[in-house]
Amino acid sequence: MYPYPFDYVRPDTLEEALVLAQEDGMKFLAGGQSLLPLLNLHVAEIKGVIDLQQVAPRLKFIEWEQDHVVLGSFLTHEELHHASLLGRRCPLFPMAAACIGHPRIRQRGTLGGSLAHADPLAEWLLVMTLLEGKIILTSSQGERQIPFQEYLLGPMMTVLDPGELIVAVDISLPEAASYGFVEMSRRPGDYALVAAGVSVLWDQDRIAKASIVVSGISDVPLTFPVITRNLSDEYPSLGLIDDVKRAIEAEVDPPSDILADASYRRHLAATLVGRALYQAIDDRFQGQRLMAK
Ligand SMILES: Cc1cc2nc3c(=O)[nH]c(=O)nc-3n(C[C@H](O)[C@H](O)[C@H](O)COP(=O)(O)OP(=O)(O)OC[C@H]3O[C@@H](n4cnc5c(N)ncnc54)[C@H](O)[C@@H]3O)c2cc1C
Repeated sequence: MYPYPFDYVRPDTLEEALVLAQEDGMKFLAGGQSLLPLLNLHVAEIKGVIDLQQVAPRLKFIEWEQDHVVLGSFLTHEELHHASLLGRRCPLFPMAAACIGHPRIRQRGTLGGSLAHADPLAEWLLVMTLLEGKIILTSSQGERQIPFQEYLLGPMMTVLDPGELIVAVDISLPEAASYGFVEMSRRPGDYALVAAGVSVLWDQDRIAKASIVVSGISDVPLTFPVITRNLSDEYPSLGLIDDVKRAIEAEVDPPSDILADASYRRHLAATLVGRALYQAIDDRFQGQRLMAK
């Protein structure tokens, strides 16, 4: 299908883009991998698009400051996949990026576009929820920074005001942390049925703080504060992973839909969390055999 007619502008500067975005019905165009399909399917009707290609270089950066990294919103999924220092410090990035769509989508789709579109199954939503990042926004009214927990209001709903642009995300990546990410989809390239991410901050060989996020079992990626609080001060073991899997299985209450019923999603949530936790432990202990208890 062809989209309804719409205006097209390609400003030379970010400032110009922000002024144009104040007009009702104008939408930023980044990689076009979500907006253009919606227009083609007549799901979205807009006045026009503001193509950000000319200002992309200003929004495509990776800046390190001690254990913080700031990622520009115009980085593509592919660039995040292959950013080597980022991948070494936080393997969540290559692991999650590799699961997004197909190569063509990864080459054009951007971090900012994914966070603005806010599909509840988007890998970057899970990663940002897990890393408790900050999101940096700008508009012609000025700049603001929001903790990611406050950014997401629901499926495809965010606190973004009309005309507001995601500039970057700011994430803390402590040296003593390790990560795991696993997802299951029906076919390679499909959105995940269920995905799980785990981060563990270590105090020597003990867990100082753990976080678990699962998507595909609720309207937004879910966190498990009670389960993860109980992991603090524990030594990792196969028994501990089994305990976590059982706790997840008991806590989640996913819906059934055309792709998978509730019991399968519940089973996937527990299994994938177990695998992601194992990855995070294995990454820390470099393949050493885990104790049973
Ligand atoms: C077949 C297919 C499979 C896919 N599979 C997956 C998948 O498995 N996982 C996944 O996460 N995604 C998937 N996607 C979506 C893909 O990741 C998109 O790239 C992403 O959702 C949107 O990024 P974009 O840069 O293409 O944004 P666009 O499509 O250009 O824009 C999307 C929305 O975000 C707004 N926007 C864009 N940039 C900004 C910004 N900087 N600030 C504020 N608003 C902005 C636009 O106005 C628009 O409303 C898939 C897409 C397709 C077509």
